[in-house]
Amino acid sequence: MRLIFIAPPGAGKGTQSALITENYHLPQLSTGNILRAEIKAGTPLGNSVAQYINVGEFVPDEIMIQFLEDQITKEKYANGFILDGFPRTLYQAISLDRLFLKYNFKLDAVLILYVQKSELIARLAARRTCLNCGASYHLEYKPPKVFNICDVCGSTLTQRKDDSEESIKTRIRNYNNLTMPIIEHYDSMNLIHRIDGVGTLDQVYGRIDKVLKYIDRNGLSQ
Ligand code: AMP
Repeated sequence: MRLIFIAPPGAGKGTQSALITENYHLPQLSTGNILRAEIKAGTPLGNSVAQYINVGEFVPDEIMIQFLEDQITKEKYANGFILDGFPRTLYQAISLDRLFLKYNFKLDAVLILYVQKSELIARLAARRTCLNCGASYHLEYKPPKVFNICDVCGSTLTQRKDDSEESIKTRIRNYNNLTMPIIEHYDSMNLIHRIDGVGTLDQVYGRIDKVLKYIDRNGLSQ
């Protein structure tokens, strides 16, 4: 399966796509996680994107499109992937269509998670992230077993620079203005599945699982 997962910042996209990866053995290709690791490692790519990511702005399309082509052609994604964080603009979506054509990939579905703005802001402010493995926690709803330590890899948790109040506003605004228009693009291809993102982790995952089972059974979109 090749899936795209679209959601506003703070809706639980990273957490839910990690659950899909676990249950469906579908590798998660999270552009945000990979870029944060590049920043942490101080690579040339990391250094060039940090200025945008740290303040919640989008990385320019040209950089992202080349980056994505380099990623999806990796061996580990040869049998499918769940794309978390790309595309984020209409231009990226159209470029992705071209990449799928070029490599003869079929897009199975686009999942969209809906959560209202007030809830997003509350969730992001209480989020803690592991910069080592990308795992994400919530102080109240999904706390780590040991205070401030990642359950998965044992690293210290931090608050993402772009989870500051100012960056959160920028990210939500960019999502509404630049990312929402791509929904129409995939609607016209009949690939969209809309999912209510409000509820417990398990409730939301249950809704996603139902959609994925449907796609698996039918080999096509609803
Ligand atoms: P995320 O972890 O998905 O919230 O992504 C974190 C940040 O990485 C975003 O706020 C952007 O600054 C940057 N980023 C990730 N994916 C993209 C993309 N497809 N286009 C532009 N910027 C991106």
